[in-house]
Amino acid sequence: MKPKTSRIEPSRYAKRMRNDEGTIHTILDESLVCHVSYVLEGQPFIIPTAYCRVDNTIYLHGSVGSHFFMQMAKGIPVCIAVTLVDALVLARSVFHHSLNYRSVVAFGTTRLVDDPAERWMAAERFTEHVIPGRWNDARQPSKSELKKTMFIAVEMEEVSAKVRDMGVGDDPEDMDAPVWAGLLPLQLSVGAPQQDEVQSGVPVPEYISQYKR
Ligand SMILES: Cc1cc2nc3c(=O)[nH]c(=O)nc-3n(C[C@H](O)[C@H](O)[C@H](O)COP(=O)(O)OP(=O)(O)OC[C@H]3O[C@@H](n4cnc5c(N)ncnc54)[C@H](O)[C@@H]3O)c2cc1C
Repeated sequence: MKPKTSRIEPSRYAKRMRNDEGTIHTILDESLVCHVSYVLEGQPFIIPTAYCRVDNTIYLHGSVGSHFFMQMAKGIPVCIAVTLVDALVLARSVFHHSLNYRSVVAFGTTRLVDDPAERWMAAERFTEHVIPGRWNDARQPSKSELKKTMFIAVEMEEVSAKVRDMGVGDDPEDMDAPVWAGLLPLQLSVGAPQQDEVQSGVPVPEYISQYKR
């Protein structure tokens, strides 16, 4: 097997790697969830959480009482993965079934954000990442709410993106098999807004009724 030269060099399907900034940022900006992995005393942990990207930095936020966030406050190496699934790839043979996807793997070291201006910026960008238009509509965080919240920044030291966006790759001997083959596209769909049952008289803002991801 080819020896690896860095943490982001894949051993399989190198042609699917798309390590340009545009692809990486588009994937990071589309997803709502990342998985953060770290090792504590030899035990690997992987924790799903929300995030946002600002330039080359991923911001995470959580309770100051969270074990996960207390570990990250120490400044530890982490690996962060983001995954979007775009289609089921249904081949004539089971072996060649696959998924179309876009994914990012980023390596970095956590940094506790203690500068008030950076914390405020992260809070705003986080909110706007989830639902643009919300920050200026909802009540913004109070001093005591901010005190309970830890912000962690991870500057991406090394980052890779991998994309499968192809059709079916069956073997020649299976091509005439009478089995339906093709792509079944998948996407995140937005349902109708469900207003809090104790609220009335507040119209649904356009940024909610028109929300898309
Ligand atoms: C939704 C989804 C489903 C998948 N299902 C399968 C499956 O069933 N079987 C399977 O073998 N593979 C699957 N993959 C691909 C899988 O993520 C790996 O890319 C693959 O196993 C080959 O890994 P490797 O040995 O080349 O990676 P390694 O050589 O171990 O990885 C080295 C480096 O390559 C980069 N890298 C590797 N994979 C990715 C990735 N997906 N995204 C971004 N960077 C990456 C990272 O920087 C990583 O540190 C799936 C991927 C996704 C997103």
